[in-house]
Amino acid sequence: MDRDHNKALLLELQRTAGTGNDRCADCGNPDPEWASYKLGIFICLNCSGIHRNLPEISRVKSLRLDFWESNLIEFMKNHGNLWAKAKYEAKVPPYYYIPKSCDCLVLREQWIRAKYERGEFLDTQVCQDPCSAGSREGCLWKLRKGRRQFQKRQFLLSAREGVMKYFTKEEIVDWFNAIRAARYHYLRTTFPNVPEAELIPRITRNFVREGYMKKTGPKQKEAFKVRWFCLDSQERNLIYFKNPLDAFAQGQVFIGRRDEGYEVRDDLPERVCVKKTKPAITLVTPVREFVFLCENDRKQKEWMDALNGVITQL
Ligand code: ZN
Repeated sequence: MDRDHNKALLLELQRTAGTGNDRCADCGNPDPEWASYKLGIFICLNCSGIHRNLPEISRVKSLRLDFWESNLIEFMKNHGNLWAKAKYEAKVPPYYYIPKSCDCLVLREQWIRAKYERGEFLDTQVCQDPCSAGSREGCLWKLRKGRRQFQKRQFLLSAREGVMKYFTKEEIVDWFNAIRAARYHYLRTTFPNVPEAELIPRITRNFVREGYMKKTGPKQKEAFKVRWFCLDSQERNLIYFKNPLDAFAQGQVFIGRRDEGYEVRDDLPERVCVKKTKPAITLVTPVREFVFLCENDRKQKEWMDALNGVITQL
């Protein structure tokens, strides 16, 4: 009798408009059938699995299958998803990627741990938004600078190849969001008048290829310098940075269509001479020729394919 009554109260509470309880507190899935009675939130089956592994901070029960004591119902009533959001997501940086139910487990788990276990977004936390204050920005980047360049590079490669064993899950998500922070900072500075809501979707770009190449200057007599290149197929831009996580690009090359005079060649323009022979790429645009050197033949071919892909796309 009591049992059924409590269950009915709980399900009603889950459906009550204005409580946020009708969607999973962590991934937004509709109609969550589980709850954490330690945190006072309604969550979906998937997220309940993550919470179950964190007994120090969360305890879960099924809304339908488990027995709910009256005091727990009361606790759920006094807390709930909106309350939890106000507390645990008070200071989520704008660039921070909030995972959805379709995202990989690492992202979802770290989002839950960052919120409830590490309390990263509590109101009492020092905000990590790199744009909100100079000193905070410095702090964020100091952390990254402590690592050597090689490690940054290794991470990017490792993530692409799915090799994650050298990094903890927490580090991976930290890196992921540090890259987003850099992109966000770059966009924020480049488009100061664009509202934040329009900048956030632009953080994730269609980079069909990223990596190091050497480039020379406009006279093609300058020394070749190593740069980090990102090829954005959506915007048809080849962007280059001094370092992969730099907030500011050093430059970019728009890549138009073949019938507009854009072309890629796997050799050097005749007047350019390089002492040590490395596989070269010449990107021809109506304005000028850009010359790049690749580390090896495989990378040259991969860059050629990627650039040709953009040139041939409509
Ligand atoms: Zn969920």
